Amino acid sequence: DAVDTAPAIVVGSGYGGAVAALRLGQAGIRTLVLEMGRLWNTPGPDGQVFCSTRAPDRRSMWFRTRTEAPLAAFLWLDVVNRAIGRYPGVLDRVHFDAMSVYVGRGVGGGSLVNGGMAVAPQPAYFGVQFPTVDTAEMYATYFPRARSMLGVNTVDPAWFESTDGYRFARTSRKAAANAGLRTTFVPNVYDFGYMRREAAGTVTRSALAGEVIYGNNHGKRTLDKTYLASALGTGNVTINTLERVREIRRSADGSYLLAADRIDPAGAVVGSRQYSCTYLFLGAGSLGTTELLLHARETGALPALDESVGTGWGTNGNVMPGRANHLWDTVGADESTIPVLGIDDRANTANPVFAEIAPLPMGLEHWISLYLAITGNPERASFTYDRATDSARLGWSAAQSAVSVRMAKNLFDRINAANATIYRYDLFGSAGKAFADDFTYHPLGGCVLGRSTDAYGRVKGYSRLYVTDGSLVPGSIGVNPFLTITALAERTMTRVLAEDTAS
Ligand code: FAD
Repeated sequence: DAVDTAPAIVVGSGYGGAVAALRLGQAGIRTLVLEMGRLWNTPGPDGQVFCSTRAPDRRSMWFRTRTEAPLAAFLWLDVVNRAIGRYPGVLDRVHFDAMSVYVGRGVGGGSLVNGGMAVAPQPAYFGVQFPTVDTAEMYATYFPRARSMLGVNTVDPAWFESTDGYRFARTSRKAAANAGLRTTFVPNVYDFGYMRREAAGTVTRSALAGEVIYGNNHGKRTLDKTYLASALGTGNVTINTLERVREIRRSADGSYLLAADRIDPAGAVVGSRQYSCTYLFLGAGSLGTTELLLHARETGALPALDESVGTGWGTNGNVMPGRANHLWDTVGADESTIPVLGIDDRANTANPVFAEIAPLPMGLEHWISLYLAITGNPERASFTYDRATDSARLGWSAAQSAVSVRMAKNLFDRINAANATIYRYDLFGSAGKAFADDFTYHPLGGCVLGRSTDAYGRVKGYSRLYVTDGSLVPGSIGVNPFLTITALAERTMTRVLAEDTAS
């Protein structure tokens, strides 16, 4: 078989992969990015690149015949999910025994589907999670660099107070304040100037048209518009799409060998390609990178990988509750999909919670306050390699999710008591759950910085092999993770380009 050779290969084009690609390209190193999803730049029959959340089609989800939206129901009716055709759609939901994980698929990874919230953790918490990293340097250099590269901006507070799109956030803020809880504005990569023009009716609506988890057609600064556009602009970076890396080996001369499956739009594997490189960067995300490394260790391809590979995984304490407001506390029919406020109870050391006030844009008044609570759940799980199915199994249990629920309930019980309100039991499936605790948007860990790697993401046991993505974060960061992932990747690339690639 022919082998394509590149000095550097990056697996995955999310945050970790995009930072690696740009910095390698700028350093003059020819780099190939392998991404299993498609490039989202071509309009479909409706003239839009991404389909709408309200009328999802095959573009919505990764090889499904039915959508699997986080909110399965409303008033117990299965009104949210739709039959769709199988296609490499942009949002995937990966199912494990007691936990499913939402991830983005495509050039730009999670940036294509996420809420755009760009939040730095509290320095003290960052220091606890990353004892081998210089916290002061992170906050002086790498967080600012990540913010500026990602195009982070903040909603204008005066406009926030007046616009109908954030009535839902103001209503939830009031309910929190009644319980003595503080809210804080959350920065975002969605262009708030564009959103104001949406509200004014002068541009095509995106955040104000319900777009987010199946992609935004306008307004959001996704990685394909920031890091990856700059990476391609160096002239040294190529991105191959619809290629899923299946295994990694090392040849006798120390170079890395990769086997990738080529996927066609119907999901069939239509061929395999072999690659080789000197420097290998893994940016396939917490699930993708951990699975590749676990597979490599357990099949004997990279036997010297550390025992800790596959451990230290967590959900960032994610859990979602909904509350029913009083009839006079309206949320508005025209919710922006981009969250801008968080209830900040992280100082409560016995029960730390950062609860994003989440939109539920249904195009009608529903009086529901929805939240994405990031709890300080200390539970962690490990992946094991299942030889029979040649796949990774996740050991996370329902009891571990119950810890997140207890912490979130502690906070939302206070809010309900102070407002004489109740939970909604109809939003998360037929079991009548008040808390969605069986999925996460924030998979973290599996190849933890300083344990499976050195303090800079260099994988233990092998030279010129690096991890730059969310698998480095030990299961929790207390806030939404992509800003931290980006900043850590910037730090790694600065060090690696200075020390490892100089000839
Ligand atoms: P990813 O962004 O997941 O990128 C990994 C890429 O690698 C993907 O494109 C994937 O297709 C590709 N890949 C995987 N395996 C392979 C393989 N074997 N071969 C080839 N390619 C492969 N975070 C925030 O900070 N703020 C938010 O507001 C926010 N909202 C979210 C909302 C949703 C609905 C979701 C799903 C996530 C959200 N997140 C948010 C989380 C955030 O998107 C992730 O933490 C982030 O994308 C992780 O970055 P990463 O570099 O680790 O990997």
